[in-house]
Amino acid sequence: MSVEKTLSIIKPDAVGDNNVGKILQRFEDKNLEIVASKMIRLSKEKAEGFYSIHKDKPFFNSLVKFMTSGPVVVQVLKGDNAIMKNREIMGATNPAEANEGTIRKDFAKSIDENAVHGSDALETAKIEIEYFFENDEICERTK
Ligand code: GDP
Repeated sequence: MSVEKTLSIIKPDAVGDNNVGKILQRFEDKNLEIVASKMIRLSKEKAEGFYSIHKDKPFFNSLVKFMTSGPVVVQVLKGDNAIMKNREIMGATNPAEANEGTIRKDFAKSIDENAVHGSDALETAKIEIEYFFENDEICERTK
């Protein structure tokens, strides 16, 4: 197992439902460290850039509209196998298919409003972290 960092976003639905604390707790309960975190309001351009891989998909416009509809909380999670571990904690993209006990099963309403984002691979994690955080915003543990 290797120590990895991954980007996590608590999306506008979950922030609006006051579930930020409960979601962050799930990461810490599974030994992921929150080494950076901030609440931001995404601009249309920032959301479009983040999801540019989906720009030709039929759901792209509604995805961008949703992601800019309210504040999000972005964080960097660090730990053993953090990328896949976070994906397991999140659950399937469609909450109707998410396993019991996952964030999406418990907090998401639909595939369009599915509570959280998490990087899916080492390379995308690096790109996504750099999309939101400067190096000096990542706070490694000292105790
Ligand atoms: P994720 O990594 O599990 O978030 O999934 P993707 O990166 O594949 O997709 C990004 C986001 O686009 C998802 O979280 C969904 O909100 C949305 N999305 C993905 N696939 C679909 C789809 O087939 N229909 C709709 N309406 N939204 C989708």
